[in-house]
Order: sequence, then structure tokens, then C-alpha cells
Amino acid sequence: MKEYLGKNIVIVVATFILLALVFGFATIGQEKPEEISLSKLAEKINQEEIKEIIAVGSVLQITDKEGAEFTTRKESESSLSDSLASYGVETEKLTSINVNIKEPQDWSLLNFAIIALIPLIFFLIFFWYIFKQAKGGAMQSLEFTKSKAKLLGIGDTDDKEKTKFGDVAGLKEVKEELQEIVDFLKNPKKFHDMGAKIPKGVLLIGPAGVGKTLLARAIAGEAGVNFFHTSGSTFVELFVGTGAARIRDLFNTAKKSAPAIIFIDELDAVGRMRGSGIGGGHDEKEQTLNQLLVEMDGFEKNSNVIVVSATNRPDVLDSALLRPGRFDRLITLDNPDIKDREDILKIHTKNKPLAEDVDLREVAERTPGFSGADLANVANEGAILAARKNKKKIYQENFLESIEKVLLGPQRKSHILSKKEKEISAVHEVGHALTSAFLEKSSPVRKISIISRGSAAGYTITLPKEEKRIKTKSEFLAEISSLLGGYCAEKIKYGEMSSGASNDIKRASAIANRVVREYGMSSLGPISFSKNSDNVFLGKDLTERNNYSEKIASKIDEEVAIIIKKAEEKTNKILSQNKDLLDTITKVLIEKETIEKEEFDKLFKRGA
Ligand code: ADP
Ligand code: MG
Ligand code: ZN
Repeated sequence: MKEYLGKNIVIVVATFILLALVFGFATIGQEKPEEISLSKLAEKINQEEIKEIIAVGSVLQITDKEGAEFTTRKESESSLSDSLASYGVETEKLTSINVNIKEPQDWSLLNFAIIALIPLIFFLIFFWYIFKQAKGGAMQSLEFTKSKAKLLGIGDTDDKEKTKFGDVAGLKEVKEELQEIVDFLKNPKKFHDMGAKIPKGVLLIGPAGVGKTLLARAIAGEAGVNFFHTSGSTFVELFVGTGAARIRDLFNTAKKSAPAIIFIDELDAVGRMRGSGIGGGHDEKEQTLNQLLVEMDGFEKNSNVIVVSATNRPDVLDSALLRPGRFDRLITLDNPDIKDREDILKIHTKNKPLAEDVDLREVAERTPGFSGADLANVANEGAILAARKNKKKIYQENFLESIEKVLLGPQRKSHILSKKEKEISAVHEVGHALTSAFLEKSSPVRKISIISRGSAAGYTITLPKEEKRIKTKSEFLAEISSLLGGYCAEKIKYGEMSSGASNDIKRASAIANRVVREYGMSSLGPISFSKNSDNVFLGKDLTERNNYSEKIASKIDEEVAIIIKKAEEKTNKILSQNKDLLDTITKVLIEKETIEKEEFDKLFKRGA
């Protein structure tokens, strides 16, 4: 802000200097004509030297036949011919001169006014600007209270380009619910006649990349109504009142162009719980949120505007937003299951040349937990890989390779592990794989690799035999055990651990915590001690006190520690009893860098 102000002052000062120069030159440039007496003029007229006289009030501007200019004055009461006659000018000499009489204009006063006004105007503009800056955001344009919502021109986009429900795979129930909204917007009268109450606000809840934004666009495409697309973050400004003004503007515009959909993406950016501001802009956020609530309450029954919103953080939303008459329709979107994954892949490979061996079902099988966005990414990466290898079509192997790329980030060809690092990471990964293989409740190993990707030096992929919605305690414990497999293997083999296990430990602890706190799977019984451990900085947790005593807290910690300890013991036992197998598979892995499921199974069967 300071910097910005400074820049302005420089501009204003520079303008003044420039103006002064211009005025200065203007007056210097105008060479003042010589002033002569009236009698001298009379003399010149009689000698026929004068070509033209312009009389402006009492001032006479004279040009002689050589082009020289003079001025003189006459008495203001008498006429020009009278004055000249009284100085002895012969009348016939005067007739040969071009005489022009002009209305007197008070040039001096006008000049003065202009010269005085210009700086005044500049000062006014300058102060207005500063004032505005103090009030609003310094970085904002003059229209900073405009909502910035993008109106997706429904009328002018080609029908083919519109997103329709057909472009969204899976999410069947969700689409059915939204179809209702579309029907209403298309034909509101039908519903009003029935006295039906139409939801004012629809909130789409789901993890990142499940297709919330995509669905919102599809609603607009289906309904063919005006669609105001905006994101919660555009309402968040450091300066109080800006966001609220933008909300007001957005709703006014939408109401004027009803029927319409207002889509507020990332609602959590504005809709955060009030009274929990950390850092600046918290008053502002409250005002913005309040304005949103006011606007939604202010909708008349038949304003034909529906607010659709999306968030992946419903837990941080202010509860006032979810009250009846506001976002009263909550729709949860889940990551796709295998069938939906296949459908999503179909949509995203529709316009791509696929080789005969492509089996999208297999790709879907190998991508549990992937979001729609991840799958779109897999399809795209597959195409990129094929193109880079100068293929004419995309082959199955390209898709399979791209799964890992999406899962773990791009392959790091540039960073080659040292021999020792490679050995350690091989031991580590085989530790994971072996533990998983020995634990009946664990998912089978799909692939082990020590080709580093992303931040991981190596990786082991295990995949559940079937899609699972619920997990038992023993499955959680097996998961923790195999997560500790790398750690234990390193310890057995080298007598010490490396930093490579930090992520595993973090994940194992998180699972153990959930087992105790959320799922009631410890001696503490079925009581929830959940805390959203990952969002301390998002407000809620700071003001919300634990609903349990310090004594219970230390009990929880104890239980978590017991679970981890037991899992570690189990893993240790498995690995130390199978040290030979650990060594053999490690050797193969160091040599080949990757081991696929089939080979792993063979090695495992031979040794176990
Ligand atoms: P969100 O808003 O939930 O974070 P998006 O709607 O932005 O996710 O989804 C990102 C991209 O992922 C979409 O543009 C689309 O290409 C793809 N995608 C996500 N879900 C689906 C789906 N169900 N069907 C087809 N494509 C999907
Ligand atoms: Mg989105
Ligand atoms: Zn590991």
C-alpha cells in the first residue's frame, strides 16, 4: 500500500511539472507584438503601411504589409473610426485596410480560471484516489466491488460445447437429485402451482476432484439458464466490506437475469465458521458471510434463482449456512467405484486413438481411490506417453505406466540413487511387501519398485482383493504392520533405521489414532474422541475444547502406542523369521529395480 501511494505521488508531481512546462513554453512561444501609440498607428495608416486591423474591445491588433504585428489601444468609449479620425487619418486611406471588429472577450480572466482550475481538479482526483484507497483495496481496480462472477453465456455457447450430465460419469443418485433442480429452473411454474417449495441452496460436498465443479457446469448446461460462476476466494479481501459488496452485486445481477444459477465454488473460503479468525481479514470474512446469509434469506419464493455451492471441507462451514432456507440440500459425492472409474476413463479416452489391447476395466481395477480428476489425468498422461514414444495409438502399457505417474509424481530419471541408497530402499520396500504377503488380512502385493518417483525413493503397491467400504480392526492392524515393514526390515538388516520411513510412520500413527479415537476399537470402548487433527489452523479446533479429560487423553495416547507396539512386534517377528527370503527378494529387486506381482508371488512361494 505504502509503495503504491508513493508511486502515485510521483505520478502526480510529474504531471504538475509537465503542466508547468507546457504553460511556460506556451507563453514564451507567443512573442508579444510591439506596442505602439495610437498616433503612430495613424501615421502608418496615412503612409499606407497597414494591411489589417483587428479590434477586440479597446485593443487593436495590427498587421502591416510586411507582416509585422503591433498592438495599441483606443479609448474604450469611442468607435475605431472616430478615434483614428481624431488622430488625423484620412477616411479614404482607412477604407483600403481590412478592418475587423470582434466582440471583446475577457481572455485574461478565462486564462486565469483555467490555470487555477486544472491543479484544483488534479488535487481533487488525487485526494479522491487516496480516499478510495484507504477505504478499499489498494490493488483493486476502480470496480473493486463488482462481484467478478463469470457469467457463462448460456445463449451463446454452442450446444455441443455445453457440459451435460452425460459428460459426468457415475454419480447416478447425485445426478437424479440435480435433475430436479434443472426441471425446476426450466419450468418453475409447474412447481409453484403445486405449492412445492424449491430448495434455495444446494451444497455439493466431496473430496477434491470428484467432479463438483463439473457437475455444477452440467446443471447449467442442462437447464440452459444463466449461470454465474464464482469462487469463494474472490470474496475474500483484506479490506472490510469489499466481499460483502461483491456478494450483494452478484445476487442483484443474478436476480435481474433470473432464472439463474449462482455457483459459488470452494464455499469454505467464505463460509468458514465465524468467531474463529486467525490473522487478518476476519471481520471482513464475517461481513461477507453475513451478507451471503442475508441474501439467501432475502430470496422471495419465486425469484427463480438457485445457489449451488461446492466444498471439500464441510466440517469448517458455519452452521448458519446449513440451516433451512439456505443450503438445505446437501449432496455428498464420493470417489468413484470400479464401474464408475471405467466409465470416467471411457469419457476421457473417447476422442483418443486407442490400440486394440487397451482394457479400461484393468486400468479401473488398478486405480482404487482415484478421483475423477486423477483418472482424467491418467487418460491424458497415457496419451502423452504414447506421443512421446512416437506411437500412433495409445497402448495399455501407456495407461498402466501413467497410473504410477499420477500416483507418485513423475519419474525422477535425473536423480539416481547411490548404490547404498538403492540397497537400503530395496530392503525397505521388500520389508513392506513381505509383511503384506505374510499377513492374511493385508492386501496382496501388486508391484515393488525402487525407481524413485516424487519424494519416494521407492514404492510398494498393494491392492485390496475387492473394493471395500468397511474395514475390520484386524485389517487396520495388518495395514499398520505392513506400513512398518520398511522400518523393521531396515532395523533387522542394518541395526538402525533411515529417514525413509518417516512417511510410513506418519500414516501408521494416523491409522492407529483413528482406530482408537473414531472407531472405538480399543479398551476405551465405543466412545468418539475424534479431533480433526489436520486442521488446527482452520479455526474450529482452536476454540473447541476437547470433550474429554486430560486423564482420558493420556489413556488414548497409551492405547495408540500399544497398537503401534503390537504391530511392530508382529512385523519384526515375520521379517526376522524370514530373513533369507528378505535377502533373496532384495537382491532380485536391486538387480531388476521393479518386481511385478507374478514374479513376487513366485519368489514368495519358493521361499515361504
Ligand atoms: P472438484 O470440483 O470436485 O474438485 P472437478 O469438477 O474440478 O472436481 O473435476 C476435475 C476434472 O476431473 C473434471 O474437469 C473432469 O475432467 C474430471 N472428472 C471428475 N469427476 C468426473 C466424472 N464423474 N466424470 C467425468 N469426469 C470427471
Ligand atoms: Mg472444484
Ligand atoms: Zn516405506
